[in-house]
Amino acid sequence: MATDAKALRIPTIPVFEQFIGGAWGPAWSGRTFDDLDPWSGQIVARMAAGDAWDARRAIEAAQEAFASWGTSTPSTRQNIFLRAADILERRRAEVMDWLASETGCGHDFGLIQIEFVLSLLKQASGAGYAAVGQVIPSDQPGSLAMAVRRPVGVVAAIVPWNAALILSARAIVAPLMLGNTVVLKPSEESPWVAGVLWGQIFQEAGLPPGVLNVVTHAPGDAGAIGNELIEHPFVRRINFTGSTATGRRLAEKAGRHLKRMVLELGGQNPLIILSDADLAYAVDAAAYGAFLHQGQICMCARRLFVERPVADEFLERFSAKSARLAHGDPRDARTVIGPLINNHALSMVTRRVDEAVAGGARVLAGGHPVGRCYPATVITDVPSNCELSQEETFGPVAIVDIVDDADDAIRRANDSVWGLTAGVITGDAERGMAIAERLDAGIIHINDQPIHDEPQMPFGGVKDSGWGRFGVTFAPEEFTDTHWVTVKRRQRTFPF
Ligand code: NAD
Repeated sequence: MATDAKALRIPTIPVFEQFIGGAWGPAWSGRTFDDLDPWSGQIVARMAAGDAWDARRAIEAAQEAFASWGTSTPSTRQNIFLRAADILERRRAEVMDWLASETGCGHDFGLIQIEFVLSLLKQASGAGYAAVGQVIPSDQPGSLAMAVRRPVGVVAAIVPWNAALILSARAIVAPLMLGNTVVLKPSEESPWVAGVLWGQIFQEAGLPPGVLNVVTHAPGDAGAIGNELIEHPFVRRINFTGSTATGRRLAEKAGRHLKRMVLELGGQNPLIILSDADLAYAVDAAAYGAFLHQGQICMCARRLFVERPVADEFLERFSAKSARLAHGDPRDARTVIGPLINNHALSMVTRRVDEAVAGGARVLAGGHPVGRCYPATVITDVPSNCELSQEETFGPVAIVDIVDDADDAIRRANDSVWGLTAGVITGDAERGMAIAERLDAGIIHINDQPIHDEPQMPFGGVKDSGWGRFGVTFAPEEFTDTHWVTVKRRQRTFPF
C-alpha cells in the first residue's frame, strides 16, 4: 500500500532547523510551527519553534566565537562577505520566490531587496579596512593618546517581516563587519528569508561557527526570547527594527540593564506636493511611495499634503491611477498590490478606514478589502481624532490633506510623534532645501517620495521613529566602543 507522501501526491512540507554554534538543530523543546503564505494561506514550511533556552545557547555560542572573530583580519572578513554576495546572487530566483511566499512580496520590491543586499555585502566587505581610531594631541609631554574603536561582543538583532531580506541583512552585516558576533531573531512571519537563509549563506561562505546564530520562534514566543537577549550579560548591544510600540517596550527593559539599542521604528511619513510641482511626476511618485509592497514599508508615504491650487487636479489624477493598480497574487508580474501579511493586518486596515469614513472621510479609490488584499486606497477629509490619522497604518492607504501653503504643510507634517522619512515635490530645488531644513524627519528626499535606501546612507529616524543609524559608514557609532588609550614615551612626574 502506498502510504508515503510522494505516492499520495501530497506536497512535502520542508522542515527547517535553527542555526546555533555553526550547527543546525531542532528547538530544544522539539516544537515546530507553520510558516504560512499570506496569499494562499498554505503552509510554506515547518520551522523550529525556539524559546529562551535556545536564545541562551545561541548567546553562549556567540560569546565563545567572539574571541577569535573579534580579532580576525580584514581580509578574512572581506572574503566571507564577498562569498556571501556570490551565494545570494546564485540563489536569487529561489530567494525571490521565498520573499513572495513568506511575505507576499511582489517582483519590484523583491528585486529592490536583492540589489540592496548585494550592494550591502560588497560594501561591507571593505569595511574592515577603514581606520578604527584617531590620534589626539595631549597636553602631557611625551604622551601618545588614541581613541580606538573595538567591537562590543555579542549583538542581538531583532527584525520584522516586511522587508525581510534587507532588514535582516543590515541587522547582521553591520555588527559582523566590525568584528562582533550576532544572535539573529527573525519575525515569526518570515523565519526563512530573515533567518534560516542567512545561516545557510554564511555557513557556505565560511563564517566560523557561532559568529552568526539564528533562533526562530512561533507566534507569541517573541517576548521570552527578547527578554533573554536583553537580560543576558553576554549581550552587549541590541538592534531592533519594528513597531514603535514593541521598540518602546524593549527599550524600557534595555534601560534597566543599561544596554544600548539601535531602534528603527515606525513612521507616518509626509509627502508634500507644492503647486510648482510637475503633477504627472508627483502622481507617479505618490503612487509608488504610498503603495509599493502594498504600503507595508516603514518609509511609505502615508500623509500627502497638497498645496491648494493643484489639489483638485492632483486628487483626480492620483485617485484614477490608484484605482487602476492591480491587486492579486504577488507572483503575477502584473500585480502591484499583493496580500497583506495576515488577517490581523487586513482587519486592522479595514477597521481604520471604516472608522474614518464613519467620521466623515471620503474614499476616492479602494476602501474595501478584496480577498486577502486591500486595494490601493485614497482617502481625504480624514478627521484628526481617528486611528487612521493618529497611528501608523501598515497598508495601502494614502491620506490626502489640502494645505494653504508650504508653511501649513510643514506645520502639519511636524505635528506628529513620528519622524522617519519625508518627501517634498517642487519645481524649485532651493525651495525644497529650505523646507527640508524645517522638517522633523531623519531622512528627507527633495523631488522624490519618501521610500529610498542605500547601504552607505545614514538610515534612521527622529522622535518616536527611533534612535541610531544603520549605514556602512555610520554603523561603527552603534556597534563599536571607543576606548581611550595612552602611551607615555617618557616617564612622567608625580606630585608625591
Ligand atoms: P513588530 O514590532 O510587531 O515586530 C518586530 C520584531 O519584534 C519581530 O521580530 C517580532 O517577533 C519582535 N517582537 C515582538 N514582540 C517582541 C517582544 N516582546 N520581545 C522581543 N521581540 C519582540 O513589527 P512588525 O509588524 O514585524 O513590523 C512592522 C513595523 O516595523 C512597522 O511599524 C514598521 O514601520 C516598522 N519598521 C521600521 C523600519 C525602520 O527601519 N525604521 C523598517 C521596517 C519596519
